[in-house]
Amino acid sequence: MKVLSRREFLEKGIASGLWIAAPGYGHILKSISYPADKIESNSFNDNKPDEFTPGIIVAGTGQIPEWLHCPRFYTVDYRRDVVMDEKWISNPGEISNLVKTIADNGASALRLGTCWGGEVFYQSRIAPHSSRLGHLDYLREAVEQGKQSGVKILAYINPNALYTDHPLAERCAVRDSQGNVWNIDAYGIKSTRYACTNNPDYRKFLMDILSEIFMEYQPDGLYVDGLTSHICFCRHCQEKYYNLYKTEIPVKFQKSGPVSVLWEMTSCPELIGDLHDRDSKAITQFLYNNLTDITKDFTLTVKSCKSDAVTMYHSWPKADTLPYYDGTLGEIYVNQPWVHILWKTGELTNYGAVFPILVLQNIYLRKKTEQEGRNKIFQVLANGMLPNCWYLQGMKTCFDYLRENARYYDQTTTNPFRFMAFPRAIHEDAVQRQIIKDYKVPGPRSRFLAPYAGFYSAILRSELPITTIHRPGFHQKIDGLKVLCLINEASISDEQVDRISRFVSEGGALIATGETSLYDQNGIRRPDFALKDLFGASFTDILPPGNRSVIFSGRYHITKSLKNTGIDYDESLLVVKPTGCKVAGWVIDKNKEHEKIPAAAINKYGLGRVVFIPARLDSIQCEKLTPEIEQLFKNAVHWATEGNVPIQIESEKAVGVTMFEQSGRIMIHLVNYNSDTRQDSEPCGKIYNIRMNLIVPAGRKLTRLYLLWQKKELGFSYKTNRVNFMLDELGEYEVVVAELG
Ligand SMILES: [Zn+2]
Repeated sequence: MKVLSRREFLEKGIASGLWIAAPGYGHILKSISYPADKIESNSFNDNKPDEFTPGIIVAGTGQIPEWLHCPRFYTVDYRRDVVMDEKWISNPGEISNLVKTIADNGASALRLGTCWGGEVFYQSRIAPHSSRLGHLDYLREAVEQGKQSGVKILAYINPNALYTDHPLAERCAVRDSQGNVWNIDAYGIKSTRYACTNNPDYRKFLMDILSEIFMEYQPDGLYVDGLTSHICFCRHCQEKYYNLYKTEIPVKFQKSGPVSVLWEMTSCPELIGDLHDRDSKAITQFLYNNLTDITKDFTLTVKSCKSDAVTMYHSWPKADTLPYYDGTLGEIYVNQPWVHILWKTGELTNYGAVFPILVLQNIYLRKKTEQEGRNKIFQVLANGMLPNCWYLQGMKTCFDYLRENARYYDQTTTNPFRFMAFPRAIHEDAVQRQIIKDYKVPGPRSRFLAPYAGFYSAILRSELPITTIHRPGFHQKIDGLKVLCLINEASISDEQVDRISRFVSEGGALIATGETSLYDQNGIRRPDFALKDLFGASFTDILPPGNRSVIFSGRYHITKSLKNTGIDYDESLLVVKPTGCKVAGWVIDKNKEHEKIPAAAINKYGLGRVVFIPARLDSIQCEKLTPEIEQLFKNAVHWATEGNVPIQIESEKAVGVTMFEQSGRIMIHLVNYNSDTRQDSEPCGKIYNIRMNLIVPAGRKLTRLYLLWQKKELGFSYKTNRVNFMLDELGEYEVVVAELG
């Protein structure tokens, strides 16, 4: 088994598939021009972007510093207006004490607020000091104590805003189409303005700060929050735009800006403006170029001052910015459509853990208890990121464990196990928003997001491992998968249809639901499903919600074991006509029971198998956790893979399972979800006697099985290519390690 590095592995699926999420524009639009490299650099003089290996840390060596393989992060931010949670440091020695405290609690890295709004928390000769700073030097103290306590210090800077009393505010703030300073508070924070990184004075100010920090203080890295390009009509932006397109920035984009941070938690730039407007494509590309330029300048400036400093950015990397990233972070605030939030931290971690670099996940606590801290950290560890703690609660227990077991979480050698994946989003995109106009689904459910969340919960509660892929260009990211799940993936291009058809005909399994493939990439309704041959079914109609329920057939595997408890079906209903599929369940009208509409069907296509579930059972599951719906999806995966599910788990209560691999090793993470599903801070009841069954990859033999949390060896018995074993007890979290000879 050749094991790729995480970088190679994820890049195959991720970086190569990064698109501008603009239907009809196809592949990513390559940058049109790079400005001359203004940075004088000892290490990077000869490095052009194309030769720059993604994420390479130590300039010129291609090595990631040992400490970044599995760092344990703690964060403290400072900002003028924040007085609630942050403890302001006002005496010498307090920062040192903070560093000592987090070290005692297991942390190995501190993200320290150093600059916000153009003012800084160190004794700068360039930038205005925060009025709270006095004679203190947060950064100096932290770096010095960090060396003694073994804590790496990352200077946090947010260059997105300037306080209105900052000397550069008037000159460097973003400008509206009238040429006036855009009169809007940055992030809604009083007396601030968004700053324009195309302004040479502001750019110089930022680069000077970076040079000062990394030449004089030598911290271990930089964390940049809020780095963004804005729609801005200042003369510098106009000049740059003109150089590219020989025209002015169209005034119509005034209405699209300024957004607080552009494309923050997305893996590709999303179209600004209108789908059918060529100017939209142009401004999107312009902003993307700007973002790439400033990201490059930041990284090169830092690394030219301190070659082994790491550069992390808050906004997720895009294809063109990835070369300048050593790490990023997940921070998504979204409430809809979740009703059951017990596993939401893990779900969002799973969503974001798609980059070939270090990805941290913020651990914010509401109740601020040890229990809540552990619940969230374990979900993060089990889903492919590392935690960034904002509170000490839960930290020591988890970080002591993580330090002891760092090699099992090493981001440079650990890859998600490729079995089943589904494209999804956290927000609707422009095409989905257009499709939604056809008919609406009342809250808390929604046309597209509820099926994603409902399906995820069904799979999680069925103890099946799943990974997420981002929707744009998803068909380029499915190599090596056994199961592709298209969850109400209504808008699909012909190219995607071809790739999916090939995937299934070559033996892949497809689980598809709802209106999958009924629309093209521009949101135009097709006369029939583009995947109708795979489904063995044709589209007929969509009925409004009525008085209906679901019944299952006992004839076919996917519904045979299901109890006919008459699940209420209260959503719109897609009517399909079987053209070759076998129908395994129906939605019936309670008043006219002879009218049966297919709700679930199976079909074979080439060497592969397809389960098509046109009824919106995934959406119902988002609100009402329904054992029959969960079992239906579980059966679907088992039938479509002919039982070749890498891990099978029999448990009385819900266990979240994820799988990762390293060279010669498979790691099965188990998270206990035996708790009230509408919260995530209460203790989970222990789960006993979990039976597990693992497929050993062809040509390998299981040589050792052990538990990381309980520090215990496990016995096992072989049956052909499968091993059976039992976990007597699951507390909150466990990792089963299978060593393969
Ligand atoms: Zn500007």
